[in-house]
Amino acid sequence: MSVLIQHGTVVNAGGSVKADVLIEGERIVAVAAGLDPAGHTVVDATGLLVMPGGIDVHTHLDMPFGGTTSADDYFTGTRAAAVGGTTTVFDFALQSHGHTLGDALTVWRGKAAGKACIDYGLHMAITDLNPHGGSEHETLREMDAMVAEGITTFKLFMAYPNVLMIDDGLMFRVMQHAAELKALCLIHAENGAAIDVIVAQALAEGKTAPHFHALTRSTQAEAEATHRAIALAEMAGASVYIVHLSNTDSLRELKAAQARGLKALAETCTQYLVLSLEEQMPGKSFDEAKYVFTPPLRSKTNHAPLWEALADGSLSVVSTDHCPFRFEDQKALGKDDFTKIPNGGPGIENRLQLLWHYGVNAGLLTPERFVELTSSAPAKIFGLPQKGQIAAGFDADVLLWNPNAEYTISAATQAMNTDYSMFEGWTVKGNASKVYSRGKLIVDEGRFVGEAGYGRFLRTEANAGGMA
Ligand SMILES: [Zn+2]
Repeated sequence: MSVLIQHGTVVNAGGSVKADVLIEGERIVAVAAGLDPAGHTVVDATGLLVMPGGIDVHTHLDMPFGGTTSADDYFTGTRAAAVGGTTTVFDFALQSHGHTLGDALTVWRGKAAGKACIDYGLHMAITDLNPHGGSEHETLREMDAMVAEGITTFKLFMAYPNVLMIDDGLMFRVMQHAAELKALCLIHAENGAAIDVIVAQALAEGKTAPHFHALTRSTQAEAEATHRAIALAEMAGASVYIVHLSNTDSLRELKAAQARGLKALAETCTQYLVLSLEEQMPGKSFDEAKYVFTPPLRSKTNHAPLWEALADGSLSVVSTDHCPFRFEDQKALGKDDFTKIPNGGPGIENRLQLLWHYGVNAGLLTPERFVELTSSAPAKIFGLPQKGQIAAGFDADVLLWNPNAEYTISAATQAMNTDYSMFEGWTVKGNASKVYSRGKLIVDEGRFVGEAGYGRFLRTEANAGGMA
């Protein structure tokens, strides 16, 4: 079973070239001009770009939050990812208080089993160092077992006190041990304690509408935690990756750390690049609950600096933080109190479309940088040496991208399992034409032709975020 993709333009992070791509089984075996088509299934890619499938390193599928569960499970979520050109996701397994990391791994592998349509890795969120009490810090020892299982990234929350947050001392202990293991620490950077005070004051003043979710979580709260996380990582000798960096105040802290040569990376997410407080959350109606996620939408003035940081390398990755909830029966839980609105938005399907349209078409990113941000850098940072490139020996996760295809985003036609789109009615130019996952055609002109359970669990290599 071999497939020859002919007459396309191969786009890798390092450059573009007119070349044919030969796939045998699950791997790419040759990339060269004028390959002999005899004996192969031939696919004509004239006018198309041949790129490595997208890697979305930040998703929350089938995740419990505030008494409900995110609306995409591993089937519908990875199907939607595939339709949008993404062939690998990293989801977050969450340790519950009183339970071990092993328990969380069992639960999340169970959620994915028989459902994932594309390959997936897991990050492990640490919330409790002593799940059985005492002072032993048994979770630190368990980190070794996780790395042995191929889970080499640990998420730490500086927000959500009493739920997910761990204090600075415990975070520091995890960072010290992560440094020994060459594991990467992923940080949700917001000052949760200060935010909780501000939120309580807002509620006491009767400020219960959705946009107060955004107004009570300032850019300073995010920037302070970004600074603190990087400082603690420096003390511990650990590599750190700030998730969903949303604004210029935090960006300033990141750039200052990078200028000093510290091992600090960050991602931003699609929504922070194209949506804003002014446009989506003016404080007019409960409809704005559709945009309640954390960190919240920021002022438009943050857009240009974030795009610049993507172009100049200060920001390394664009992910989605896909965490979908239906408006009708899930977001509505917070009708009278914004703190009860499940946090998150649907975006896994639209990441490449939006980044291409508003980044590449607008002249802010080159096609090569687009590939780097959406696939190659995630593969490198998160320890997947077999993915993120169109070259012989790599997994045949291949995206045929039509830069001229126009597509209008709508909840009515999307694959995501939500009753709204954050980008309803937006027309973008550039869309996935065909998508291969390890050599298997899984999307054909917008139609999903893959299958539940095809996706494999990916064991990642501990490489300190590629910064060791
Ligand atoms: Zn998240």
